[in-house]
Parts: sequence; structure tokens; C-alpha cells
Amino acid sequence: MIASMQGKRGLIMGVANNHSIAWGIAKALSTAGAELAFTYQGDALAKRVKPLAAELGSDFLLPCDVEDLASVDAVIAAIKERWGKLDFVVHAIGFSDKNELKGLYADTSRENFTRTMVISCFSFTEIARRAADLMTEGGSILTLTYGGSMRVIPNYNVMGVAKAALEASMRYLAADFGPRGIRVNAISAGPVRTLAGAGISDARAMLNWNVKNAPLRRTATIDDIGGSALYLLSDLSASVTGEVHYVDGGYNIIALPVLEELRK
Ligand code: NAD
Repeated sequence: MIASMQGKRGLIMGVANNHSIAWGIAKALSTAGAELAFTYQGDALAKRVKPLAAELGSDFLLPCDVEDLASVDAVIAAIKERWGKLDFVVHAIGFSDKNELKGLYADTSRENFTRTMVISCFSFTEIARRAADLMTEGGSILTLTYGGSMRVIPNYNVMGVAKAALEASMRYLAADFGPRGIRVNAISAGPVRTLAGAGISDARAMLNWNVKNAPLRRTATIDDIGGSALYLLSDLSASVTGEVHYVDGGYNIIALPVLEELRK
């Protein structure tokens, strides 16, 4: 069996530039034969996303800010009109005020807690519900999470809480949509240098720590994540749903850093 996406059509949400995880995923899907639509957040990003989409032969670009539900509805309506149905969706969207991605979690404001939850967590449910209605022949839905959902990562703070809720949402959605042949999964990626990643205080030090201490002595590239996403979005993973799949060089299995580090 090979991972063919020939004849499959999907929506990629969350490309900001060519460092975005969503871009790594889009490249893998396109190489496997998928036809792609892209959303972009605002005109500033349109300039970056348009040429990237064109590189993969797509002229199907739609504005979408998940804080504005009307723009989510407009995306779904446009897909319905042009394609009639949908086979997969990638949700690679996250945001929190960078002033609260440092210091203590205890100091999180109510305003930023709510905004982080809506953009980084609840948008997945809102998008999945609408997309599922277009998945008339089954489908696969994927979101991106991070190990700060399960364990305390310094500075990740409210994003860790939002990712925990996102992972729980993913499991509930998998149960809701499973009887309709729609699978829902998450990739928990190791640290990657992206715009969103740079918003977390000490991001570079955290990435270096992962590289030093992960069993594979590396962190995931966006192409590594693309390969795993291709598996989860294709029929290769036909019986897999409700899973958090780690793509992090194995970092999540480690409880103590490597001994050389401890002896220093
Ligand atoms: P990125 O900055 O390239 O992508 C984040 C995307 O979220 C951008 O395209 C941005 O436009 C979009 N976004 C933010 N607010 C939005 C809104 N209101 N409406 C619509 N779109 C909005 O960074 P990335 O690292 O590729 O992030 C993609 C996903 O991967 C996020 O969920 C992130 O939490 C997750 N993730 C990142 C890392 C990492 O280390 N970079 C690790 C694990 C998981």
C-alpha cells in the first residue's frame, strides 16, 4: 500500500510562511497527489501564502480569522460551492498574547485565557463540525498540539492548558464523527522554529534542550511532520482515530535528561 492522496481534496488552515508546520504538511499532501485549498489570516499573510499555494498548483485561497465565525462559514460555503465535498482538513492554528508566554501561569489574565482558548482550541471544534458536513464519503481531520499539554513546560503557560483542552476536544470529536467514517487525530510536534514558536519566551533554549535530550538527538522538521500528517490524513491510517501522535524525536518518553547532562 502507498500513501496516495490522488483524487482527494483538502483544506489547509495555518500557513503563515514557508516555516509554518502547515506548509510542511501541505507539501507532503501535494506530493502525494492531493488538491489543496488554503486559508490565510488577513491581507498581510495573503502576500506570503498566495505564492506558496501557487507553488503547489493551488489558486484556491480564502481569508479566515477564526475569531470571526462569519469568515469560517464563508470558507465552508466557498468549498461547498467549488468542490461540493471535502476529504480532509488540517487545523494548524494557535495564538496567545506573548506577554503571557513567560513568567507564571498563575498570572494569566481572564481576557487572554478566553482568547487563547477560542483561537487555539474551540476553533478546532467549530471548523470540524462544519467540515464534517462536507465529508459525505468519510474524511480525516488533523490538529497540531504540543507536549506542554501533558507536562509543565516553562513559559508555555496558558497555551499548555489550551492544548490539553484541544486534545480532549479531538477525542470527543473522534467519537462524535466516527460513525460517519470521519477520523480525528492530533500530531504533537516537538519544537519548531516558526512565527508562533518564537512567541514563547526562551524558545531557542527549549529547542536546543530537546535536541540534546530526545532519543533521536533531533527535533522534528516541518517535513517530518508532513510525513506523519500524510499517514494520518491518508487511508494508511484507516483504523486510527482519537490519537495524539508524537512527532518529536521521542522526547516525550524521557523522564530524566541523558546522563552526560546530569554529570555536568
Ligand atoms: P505559524 O506561526 O507558522 O502558524 C500559526 C498559524 O496560526 C498562522 O498561520 C496564523 O495565521 C494562525 N492563526 C493565529 N491566530 C489565528 C486566527 N485568529 N485566525 C486564523 N488563523 C490564526 O506557527 P506553527 O508553529 O506552524 O503553528 C501551527 C500549529 O502548530 C499551532 O497550533 C502551534 O501551537 C502548533 N505547534 C507548534 C510547535 C512549534 O514548536 N512551532 C510545536 C507543536 C505544535
